[in-house]
Amino acid sequence: MELEIFNQCFYPTSVPSGNPNRIVIGVIGRSIVVRDGSFLLPFSEIEGLHYYRLRRMLIGHWQGLDCEVWELMPEVANLEGIHCSDLRSLLIASDDAHFAMACRAIQLLDWQDNHRFCGRCGQATEPSESENSLVCKACEINNYPRISPCVIVVVTRGDSCLLARQANWPEGLFSAVAGFLEAGESAEDALTREVFEEVGVSVCNPEYVGSQSWPFPGQLMLGFLAEATSEEITVDGVEISQAQWWRYDKLPPSIPPPTVMSGLLIQRFVDRVRG
Ligand SMILES: [Zn+2]
Repeated sequence: MELEIFNQCFYPTSVPSGNPNRIVIGVIGRSIVVRDGSFLLPFSEIEGLHYYRLRRMLIGHWQGLDCEVWELMPEVANLEGIHCSDLRSLLIASDDAHFAMACRAIQLLDWQDNHRFCGRCGQATEPSESENSLVCKACEINNYPRISPCVIVVVTRGDSCLLARQANWPEGLFSAVAGFLEAGESAEDALTREVFEEVGVSVCNPEYVGSQSWPFPGQLMLGFLAEATSEEITVDGVEISQAQWWRYDKLPPSIPPPTVMSGLLIQRFVDRVRG
């Protein structure tokens, strides 16, 4: 499976389409409202929910229709026919276009929450009328949605790969090593540093595989494979509690699915070894 964030189904924009029909993504806290098995809610069917609406925002076009996110009151979760899904589980089960929409909905709400006041002068910001930004009129500063680049890497050594786990993850779950870029770093520098800091292994030949938005809270995951030049593992004991080499045909009991970048990288490695 290939990841394509900007697919033909979802176009991220804050410009209305002119089509009077629209669809809505309902958000309660960090959960997404699901009805009849879908989180894309036709406006005509959920219009009554506007009584519970705290906030609305146009996030893009879906098949020619405006797509809005509505932040809703917690009471909505108790209404008949509605249930709330944990964002992470929903994303893992979604295809690329749905994944992109849900990520954007959550990230834009978070961004508005976190930029209500100007970082320079402290005055309240206001949504721009012409673009997706929050403006401080006193400083004439525009604040745009903040994206934080992260590297995520599966380190390979022959027919084995290095997967690690954090202490607070579900039992048996192992995944790729990941970390944020520092200011001034290239993605390749960052992955070399992160792998060495977290598991004590040196790497070479980083190979870019793809990128994916990840709204926890606003990352852009840059996915790589890289070859190990050392074998001994020393976990940092802070971010990583356990790490080891896994043969391609004897992977851990639980790994992420290929719909998310870490799972895609593992799949890419396995496919390559199998030839
Ligand atoms: Zn200001």
